[in-house]
Parts: sequence; structure tokens; C-alpha cells
Amino acid sequence: MSEYFKNIATSASTIATGMGITLKHFLNAFNRKGDAGIDDVDYFRQVDGLVTLQYPREAVPTPLRGRYRLHNAIDDCIGCGQCVRACPVNCIEIETIKVMPEDLAACGKTSGGQQKKFWVPVFDIDTAKCMTCGMCTNVCPTECLVHTPVSDFSEFDRQNLLYHFGNLSRIEADAKRRKATEAQAKAQAEKERKAAEAKAAQAEGPAGEQ
Ligand code: SF4
Ligand code: SF4
Repeated sequence: MSEYFKNIATSASTIATGMGITLKHFLNAFNRKGDAGIDDVDYFRQVDGLVTLQYPREAVPTPLRGRYRLHNAIDDCIGCGQCVRACPVNCIEIETIKVMPEDLAACGKTSGGQQKKFWVPVFDIDTAKCMTCGMCTNVCPTECLVHTPVSDFSEFDRQNLLYHFGNLSRIEADAKRRKATEAQAKAQAEKERKAAEAKAAQAEGPAGEQ
């Protein structure tokens, strides 16, 4: 009989201990892990405090040097294409149009003072493919292509993950393409005319000497 009451006492004591631990964690959940957030070196060492956040209303801040969603400050992009060549998954698509000499002033300079020599009508990043490796940002000579702290950019429609940074309207791009094509054709015609003249002069040369 005494064994019977002993077991009841042990059960009651065990339940009380367990409930005490639960209550302690429950009360601790009203605390926060400090104001500094994840950038606080002690953030993950603190055992007390709220573990689960009310996401998406609250979120753990992203680390300072984290690599997240890309952004291209396109006005500083010189259209060099180094990022495209560096990307291991080919998720950057770029189209450039050579700037005509008379349009250099209109095309402008980067914030670092470098003259831009290409229009960039298309600069698309397929962020659904991007693995945020950072190879493209590392090679960008003007540092216009950067990772932002934005880590949550999920979409229902995959097409919305294709980001467009090009800075020309379709009409503007068409006009500049046409102008560049005409200038190229003119330069080619001039080259051919000069080659033909040189050939004719060469053909006349030996005849004139005879
Ligand atoms: S971060 Fe990596 S995968 Fe993403 S665009 Fe840049 S090079 Fe490509
Ligand atoms: S590497 Fe930088 S400057 Fe060159 S095309 Fe890419 S984003 Fe533009």
C-alpha cells in the first residue's frame, strides 16, 4: 500500500517539475534576444528569449555581409558583360548598343566619372535561377551590381522573378539600334570603298610603269 502512495507522490513531483520547466520557458518567451538582433555576437548564445518569430510580421534581420537579392544600379552599368560571363548558371541576359560619338554626352558618365560607351536596353536577371553565389558582383568594375539585404521575395508567378533593369524604353532602344546599324553599314561601305580604291590603284600601278 505504501508503494502505491509513493508512486503517486513521485508522479505528482515529476509532473510539477515538468510543468515548472514549461512555465519557465513560457515566461521566458516574453523576453527578446536583445535589441541588436542577429548582428549581436551573443545572439545565438543567449538561451533565454523568444525563439519563434511571428513571421512575416517579424523577421530575423539578415546578416550585414549576406548575399541576397541582386540589384543593378543601371545608371552606373557600363555594359561590359563581365557579370554575364562570370555567372555559372547563365541567369543574366544583357543587350548593349554602341553609343554614337555625338551621343556620348547624352549617355553620360557613371557616378565614378567613367564615360559610358554602351546603352543597356536589356539587363535581365532570372532570380529564380540565381544561386546568389556573388561571382557577378565580384567582377563588376563599377560596383553597380550588388546584393541587397532582401531575402524574402517569393512569388506565385515565376515570371515575376525575372527582374528587368534595362533603362531604355522599347521605342528608344529601337531608335538607337537603327542608328547603330546604319552607322555600322556606313562604316562597312566606306571600308569596302577604300579597299576597292586601293585594289584599283594597285592594278593600275604596274600598268602605268610599263
Ligand atoms: S549571384 Fe551567381 S548565380 Fe546569381 S546572377 Fe550572380 S553569378 Fe549568377
Ligand atoms: S559587370 Fe557591372 S558594369 Fe559590367 S555589365 Fe555587369 S553590371 Fe554592368
